[in-house]
Amino acid sequence: MRSLHAKLALSFVVVALVAMVITVGVAQLVIAARFGDFLSGTRQAQAERLAQALAPWYRDTGTWEGLRIQLGGPGGHMMMRRWPERVLVMDARGRLVFDSGGGPPPTPAMLERWLRQGQPILVDGRTVGTVAVQGAVEAGMRTLEAIFTRSVRSAMITGGLLAAAVAAVLGAYLAGRISGRLRIFQQAAASIAGRDLAVRVPEDGDDELAALGRAFNLMAGNLQESEKARRNLVADVTHELRTPLSILRGGLESLQDGVIAASPEVVSSLADEALRLSHLVSDLQDLNLAEAGHLPLDLGRVDVGELVEGALSPLRIEAQLRMLRLESRLPSGLPAVQADARRTQQVLMNILTNAIKYTPAGGTITIAARVGAGRVAISVTDDGPGIDTGELRHIFNRFYRGDRARSRAEGGTGLGLSIARGYVEAQGGSIWAENVPPRGARFTFELPVQPD
Ligand code: ADP
Repeated sequence: MRSLHAKLALSFVVVALVAMVITVGVAQLVIAARFGDFLSGTRQAQAERLAQALAPWYRDTGTWEGLRIQLGGPGGHMMMRRWPERVLVMDARGRLVFDSGGGPPPTPAMLERWLRQGQPILVDGRTVGTVAVQGAVEAGMRTLEAIFTRSVRSAMITGGLLAAAVAAVLGAYLAGRISGRLRIFQQAAASIAGRDLAVRVPEDGDDELAALGRAFNLMAGNLQESEKARRNLVADVTHELRTPLSILRGGLESLQDGVIAASPEVVSSLADEALRLSHLVSDLQDLNLAEAGHLPLDLGRVDVGELVEGALSPLRIEAQLRMLRLESRLPSGLPAVQADARRTQQVLMNILTNAIKYTPAGGTITIAARVGAGRVAISVTDDGPGIDTGELRHIFNRFYRGDRARSRAEGGTGLGLSIARGYVEAQGGSIWAENVPPRGARFTFELPVQPD
């Protein structure tokens, strides 16, 4: 495999050489064309001057007959010596009356071309003949052109080779820098593959590699967080399963050994633990589905009053036992929400259960609702101890339990609020918590209004 470094440097050199070849070719074509123009311009000027010199001669003689003798004579001879090209003179009817020679014998086609390209000889505004200067291009001019072209070409080739050398050095330098940065990415990717998720690459600058670096670091950061979450989850699940399992095992072993009798209380407490375990497992399963966006939802029109009543009625006795007041303050005319009734009731029950659990006797728990921006917000406010500010941003995390919850015998698994959040967000809503002065906590969740 040829390295990127070599490839880039080579392509710089190739570009310089191709540019050189194209420039030399174009320059050669342009020079040849310009020289051609110059020569035909010169010939045209010569023909004009000859036409001007021949017009008075014709006016005097009235015929072209003696022209050959005239130009062949001493004066004409001189003239022809000054004009080394082939000079041709045609009369008014297009017949060749003079040919200085120095070219192939004239054919009718050549005669026609000379007449077309030649310069008319005018006497009193009448065309009496045509003079043309043709072929037999000065060897000197062509030699000059060849010398000029050759020197331009060699200058360009030298320049091109120098440019290629500079391009090679520059290309090698730039390619070295780029491939050096890419090597860092390669090593970092290899480290990630080897499960070293803490590795990061430099991301300063504003070019594509810096953008790649930022994307890479973001990916590594996310991977690291997911890995941490996975480890925590395994640790938390293990921890949560251990207690009920060891209670069950201990109880069953005691029964087996005959240490305790299989009284209805013992059996019922063991059954409670088994139930707790199965709740835990099904909660985790639902939570996983919700977070992965695969929670099956039965969305439909849900009346908020019925929803609140459905969540409150199973909890009324528990609230009474704890000497808590449950108040529902729903405004009249609330629109229905678009939701999964069973899951939304579960959300409300999780929040209410917490409020009942954490509010001391004599407290009040209020359910309220309001509508705005196409959403209905349902809130549960208690006048319990509230939530520590440091804990507020963690309480929706899986297995998170506040210090207070941990120290209480009835503290749950720390899944209630994360399930509430999972269910609400799966339905396109949002949920949050805040403390309310002078004391107490408020949990609010919003769901979209059912469209008509
Ligand atoms: P848990 O099973 O511990 O109740 P949750 O996920 O339902 O788990 O709640 C997470 C934590 O949020 C609780 O441990 C508690 O610290 C705090 N919390 C929830 N609701 C309230 C409330 N109404 N008042 C005070 N703290 C609360």
